[in-house]
Amino acid sequence: MKVVLNRLIPMCTLCLLGSATAIAQQPHVHGAGKLFVGQENQTWELMFEIPAANAIGFEHLPTSDAETARIKTYINAVENNKALVIAEAGCRLRGAEHAIDEVFLSAVDEHHEHDHDHDKHAHHHQDKHEHHDHDGHEHHGEHYSVEFTLTFTCENATNEFVINVFDGAFGLNELNTEWFTESGQGATTLTPASRTLKFDN
Ligand SMILES: [Zn+2]
Repeated sequence: MKVVLNRLIPMCTLCLLGSATAIAQQPHVHGAGKLFVGQENQTWELMFEIPAANAIGFEHLPTSDAETARIKTYINAVENNKALVIAEAGCRLRGAEHAIDEVFLSAVDEHHEHDHDHDKHAHHHQDKHEHHDHDGHEHHGEHYSVEFTLTFTCENATNEFVINVFDGAFGLNELNTEWFTESGQGATTLTPASRTLKFDN
């Protein structure tokens, strides 16, 4: 067992991820998600930010049982990494972090707080969103992203991950990806047709 205790300057590949976490509400471009990957020793973190419209198909609080079910299905997929990410042999999923339930299932007050355009009639809420111009400029506070971080422990050197979050998504065309490892860093754009993230630059 190798224990590294004498590192004077801690690698901060994973710290970089931390700076971008937990902002579920922010401008984004529909069709384009983000992926940040960091590696430190045997730990790999993959942090996703996907427009909710592309992940679950809508960006409002659920207004039907079907929408609630879709959110729960996504949470289940994240927590158990159901085919979202294929890691190499020797890697195992160590954990999944997300706040999807907080954002979409229990954040009613916070959500409305940002809906300045909306008047007090809650039942107009859904209509407003459905007709909202989502492909032009973002209106501050009206977009929601689904964010989650998958953490893997990989016993062997890892060269790639296959990113399958495109499957079953709603028009997710690309993932703008940045990666930071102990041996380098890089950026690439993954697409449904080109979804293998390689670290050999
Ligand atoms: Zn949006």
